[in-house]
Amino acid sequence: MPPKKYSKTKLAAFRKSIEKRLEAVVNDLDDIKHAIDKDTSGNASMSQDSVYSVHMADAGTDSYEREKGYHFMNRETDYYKYLMKALERIDDGTFGICTICEELIPEERMLEVPNATKCVQCKENEKLNI
Ligand SMILES: [Zn+2]
Repeated sequence: MPPKKYSKTKLAAFRKSIEKRLEAVVNDLDDIKHAIDKDTSGNASMSQDSVYSVHMADAGTDSYEREKGYHFMNRETDYYKYLMKALERIDDGTFGICTICEELIPEERMLEVPNATKCVQCKENEKLNI
């Protein structure tokens, strides 16, 4: 039976991948903040090349752009918190362990959803209300 815990080496790899994502989120947030600042100061809002500014032909006003910026910022902030929680789980040793059946959650899933606290099976069961 495999140990129901990820090895230190694995955890270090997870941490690295999470930290990388965190960095990307922080960069995105910076971009968005700049974009919003620019908008607020009355400059054109179509010039940034930040991720969120997908060019839309009918994208109207600055306020629309700003709205979109705030929306994206909220989402990124949530994601940031989410990743921080995953790091906390690595620290307290609960990372990758299903809170319901206490089995190890597969590595692929943890890389995809670092904040997962349930294995796919338990999550499915929960959905079905078993
Ligand atoms: Zn489970």
